[in-house]
Amino acid sequence: MNQLDQVGGLLCHSGTPSFTFTDSGIELTDTAIGVIRRKKWSVSAMKAQHGCRARFGVEKLVPWRVVPHSPAHIGTVFHSVMENLAGLPGPARTPDKAAALITDMIRREIRAGVLTDDDMVAYTDRVRPLVTRMFEIENVAAIDTFACEKWVNLTISGVPFTGAVDRLDTTSTGGLKVVDYKTGKVPNLRFGDDHGDQLRVYAWAVPRVLKREVDEAFLYYPAAPTRADTVRQVDLSEDAVARVIDDIPATYAQHMKDMTDAFLPFETGPLCAWCPLSALCPAAHAAGIQPSERYDGALDPAQTGLLTPTPAIVTPEPAPNPDDELPRQALDRLRPTPAHTEREGKDTIMPIFDEAKPWEETRGVNANAYSTATAFGLIALAAEKLHEQGQGAVMEDVEALAGTFDWMIHAVASKVSQTDDPEAGIHTRLSGALRTSLLIHPIPTTFEVADWKAWQKTTAKTMLTVCGIAYDMCDAKTPKTNAIISYLS
Ligand code: SF4
Repeated sequence: MNQLDQVGGLLCHSGTPSFTFTDSGIELTDTAIGVIRRKKWSVSAMKAQHGCRARFGVEKLVPWRVVPHSPAHIGTVFHSVMENLAGLPGPARTPDKAAALITDMIRREIRAGVLTDDDMVAYTDRVRPLVTRMFEIENVAAIDTFACEKWVNLTISGVPFTGAVDRLDTTSTGGLKVVDYKTGKVPNLRFGDDHGDQLRVYAWAVPRVLKREVDEAFLYYPAAPTRADTVRQVDLSEDAVARVIDDIPATYAQHMKDMTDAFLPFETGPLCAWCPLSALCPAAHAAGIQPSERYDGALDPAQTGLLTPTPAIVTPEPAPNPDDELPRQALDRLRPTPAHTEREGKDTIMPIFDEAKPWEETRGVNANAYSTATAFGLIALAAEKLHEQGQGAVMEDVEALAGTFDWMIHAVASKVSQTDDPEAGIHTRLSGALRTSLLIHPIPTTFEVADWKAWQKTTAKTMLTVCGIAYDMCDAKTPKTNAIISYLS
């Protein structure tokens, strides 16, 4: 196996090469195809088909990770602040509240282990100017928020499509305004209008999913150097929208053909210098292209130990025998199915989690998906509650209780939300409501069916009550009162 084959091997879950280089592209293994193939199409996937398709594939194979201090992560924190701000009643959306939300969001990242306390000042200094600029761009308190981070899932010309709209506002005519925040540079429209096309697709999809007309669409660039560049209204003319909608089936068909051919071609261009393969790609090499000095994501054979093996690779630590470490039930889950074993030619434990962006679909379970975060949280909650009752943490009991919590969240979600999708925001909110309810109504200490049914009924009621209170707090039309003082006076 040559060095380049081994790079492919590094990117493959099973340790076998996931692709091999040819002069014109990369040849994919079945494993790689399973990771790269998109079950749902998106604007970013569609746009990627017009560039280097080999790069598109490799970016799916490289595990996604949060890079603290990167523009992408700063953008994530900014988006969280704006989402929370827009979810508040209008008068509460003040610069002071925004500053408090910035601190809250950074603290959340610190609790998650992504940042440390030392990052607080640097992150505040980078996020605050973006949020301040938003107060200059629009009257934040006057926004009539319809929804934030709204997922649109539908079929477009036979292609399953998914996307998340940053914000939808109700306009004065009762229609909707599509808003998207872009925290990077303002793009040069001479090289295409990917941002505008993204909003054109959403403007087409939203009426079909939400049954509400879209009147207008705006892009906000709070990092733009000049005030004039911070806002752009997107052309939603029939022709402009049709051009991008028509591109969806053609690009998806191309992707499916690529997967059938098990081959993704190179296409060199100015963006090669910012490609993970830039230090290894034969086409880039032939064109004399090197990774940009400002890009630190290039896969580097020296760093990976392929040209100059590091001691860690030459003499690896003996891996623990998983059979000694894991209970039988867990092992049975992690072992490959017969189909996997046949394809991979090994009888090993298959890694079951993928590292993709939270909103991306993966072959296995996406470790970064919101639903995965909720699942891990419910398991911890179940173990915590069993411990509190002195029942120990027998894994079967933890699993049963976590499953019950999950079932209850689905049941309540189906009553209060338009969607029961585990990726939807309501699931995260309801896991919080469940935690609140458990403080008031602990789980039963008996094994009587009647006790558990009664507890479930009470808990569901409490969760619905929490939803009602939260709704009233967020609904701008509900008058605000100084409730405690009013009650006591
Ligand atoms: S270096 Fe250029 S041609 Fe090679 S895979 Fe990356 S984008 Fe494609």
